[in-house]
Amino acid sequence: TAKELLLYRPRMIAKGCHFSYNLPESRKEYRPLFYSKQLLESLNLIADSQLDDILSGKKVILEPSQGIAPFSIAYAGHQFGRFSGQLGDGRAINLFDIQGEGGNQQDAVTVQLKGSGRSIFSRGYDGKLTVDSSIREFICCEVLNALGIKTVRALNITLLPGTRATRGSTVEKCSVLSRYASNWVRLGNFELYRWQNDMDGMKKLLDWCLQRENLKDYQELYYYSVRENAKTMSRIQALGFLNGVLNTDNTSVVGFSMDYGPFTFLRNYDPEFDPTDSGRYSYKNQVDMVWWNLEVFGNVLGREFLGDRFEEILARSREIYYKVFEEEYLKCMSKRMGLGTQIDLQEFKTIILEPLLTILLKRKNIGYNNFFYMLNQKGKIQDIFFTTEEWAQLNAKDDGNNKYARHLKEQHDSASQWYKKYLDFKSKHSLDETTSINPIFIPTTEIIEDVCQILYRNDYSDITSLEKLYLMATNPFSNKHWSDQHCKTTTISNTNNEGFR
Ligand code: AMP
Ligand code: MG
Ligand code: MG
Repeated sequence: TAKELLLYRPRMIAKGCHFSYNLPESRKEYRPLFYSKQLLESLNLIADSQLDDILSGKKVILEPSQGIAPFSIAYAGHQFGRFSGQLGDGRAINLFDIQGEGGNQQDAVTVQLKGSGRSIFSRGYDGKLTVDSSIREFICCEVLNALGIKTVRALNITLLPGTRATRGSTVEKCSVLSRYASNWVRLGNFELYRWQNDMDGMKKLLDWCLQRENLKDYQELYYYSVRENAKTMSRIQALGFLNGVLNTDNTSVVGFSMDYGPFTFLRNYDPEFDPTDSGRYSYKNQVDMVWWNLEVFGNVLGREFLGDRFEEILARSREIYYKVFEEEYLKCMSKRMGLGTQIDLQEFKTIILEPLLTILLKRKNIGYNNFFYMLNQKGKIQDIFFTTEEWAQLNAKDDGNNKYARHLKEQHDSASQWYKKYLDFKSKHSLDETTSINPIFIPTTEIIEDVCQILYRNDYSDITSLEKLYLMATNPFSNKHWSDQHCKTTTISNTNNEGFR
């Protein structure tokens, strides 16, 4: 029973146990806000009041005889480069698995609640998730999935009208977010075992991963982890996404992008850009930082699990990581530019991509993702590289001697030189369809904030704006769902605006 389960709790932190049975905290009120209907269908779930209750944490499915009992997992982690000791699901509870067609382990997903209350891993935090954070995370999961990035998925948001959390100096409304993934194991899970010198625990979790992922041994798992994370980062880098907090406890063993707090997308092309102020996970650093995490993982596995050729394996993995990353990244970038993937990628890199990035670095008014969309509109150079104001300035009669005008003129010259080279390169190579690689909508922080405010003001009684945002985020290559009512501007312009505003 639930009571018995809770009695077991304190024992679960003992060595050899990397989890704790746990129940959602009981709340005064629950109110479903939003479901992803597509995902419910794909999981063969029906949105009825029973599901409402389960995904809000109000009703708990507890079938110990079938191995169904909610639990939170312990992990450790390096946070911003420093080892933090024990962490864990401080506000998350895993509910149950949903088996795929045919009952294959590899197709099963684990459903998790976030914000459903404290666990023994909460470390003095409140176990809560604010409504705005739920909405941000929900939209982030689903836009990344639509953009082809391997990510954990979001199912629904339930409001907790009687629950408040203090965040900084404000008191905020709370909610529960339900998410799922086929594998929630983080690199930090393994760090915990090494830290506790618990090789049995490590082996158990590794064996579970082998079974879940259908892999043959620990070496293969490590290489798989390296490859999958490299692939995920290549797509993330190409699309200009920043998670913001790529600590080892936020890095998936199988390359899921996960845990979206301060995330954001690049506005203009700015390698230094970082949604937090740490600088550690800036756009130019994040690929290296994920390798840094994987190296920690390799060391944690050590000789015990990777064998005597351990150093060699680490060195080889580093090569593989950067090789897979670069190849996938370049393929993605060439596709974004309509060049197809049959080109010589190194030639593309040196002749086309690197010079372009040098130009974009100085074109601060040009949206990073907008640029690739505009480029494929076969437009004129002024539409691709310059704002209307800049173009007017460039063509002004008395642009002669001021510094800004000279700067623009230089930019114009290098842009047009590059554009000529690009058109020439393009004419020699097979073209690719770019419609499913260049988003015309990106949910920026401002857009999500706008929607959160609209919802807050009407006390979540009218969710039209959220539905709209969801439709736009899940169809980022199409303007089918755009309208003036919910978008500040619906036309793409070559400013750093990204469609919605
Ligand atoms: P993050 O930086 O979001 O990855 O979180 C780091 C750790 O802190 C994770 O183990 C979280 O579960 C935990 N955590 C963050 N916020 C809360 C909260 N409000 N209540 C409990 N645990 C939290
Ligand atoms: Mg986290
Ligand atoms: Mg977080």
